[in-house]
Amino acid sequence: MQMLKDKIIKEGQVLSESVLKVDSFLNHQIDPPLMQAVGKEFAERFKEAGITKILSIESSGIAPAMMAGLVLEVPVIFARKRKSLTLVDHLYTASVYSFTKNETNDISVSKDFLKQEDTVLIIDDFLANGQAVLGLLDIIKQADANLAGVGIVIEKGFQKGGQLIREQGIRVESLANIASLKNGQVEFVEEARTE
Ligand code: 5GP
Repeated sequence: MQMLKDKIIKEGQVLSESVLKVDSFLNHQIDPPLMQAVGKEFAERFKEAGITKILSIESSGIAPAMMAGLVLEVPVIFARKRKSLTLVDHLYTASVYSFTKNETNDISVSKDFLKQEDTVLIIDDFLANGQAVLGLLDIIKQADANLAGVGIVIEKGFQKGGQLIREQGIRVESLANIASLKNGQVEFVEEARTE
């Protein structure tokens, strides 16, 4: 997606060979027109998949998930990283290890919002080692719901998450796929992979 790639080149900060900071449009400040375009693109790619729910994870997955949900006209659920006082029982839970933060979070989704008859599209901001997506897949499995696929705003193709998930026969659509962050430069994989 060219608009997204242009934004990454213009505003993305390469913090190391493995971490890209995009706080100006996705992870802190949010660019609504860009997120709207991202949502439209996900909706277009998955329009034939019969999606009934979008599942994301707080907090940075919510903006792109919301915009896709608006176009597809389906509810958006976000997995919570901490159990809230009003959300204690009746939950699907999974453990997610974050390499960037070096911590494990239990994520949870209320059983009220994910049902066996749902067809779910997972949306998240980044795909790195795949732990967040694996946690969301686990929750969908617990609900015995159907999976349509995974939509990722920025995949880091040089890390193992994309392969790990595609190997399971799961469709992963990333709107920008980064091949390398070496020498402070962002290099993209030529074509966003579609499987
Ligand atoms: P994974 O579980 O695939 O290893 O990592 C997914 C999560 O880690 C994303 O939802 C994102 O919050 C965070 N993350 C991983 N790599 C990066 C990165 O290079 N930049 C930013 N901003 N977040 C990242």
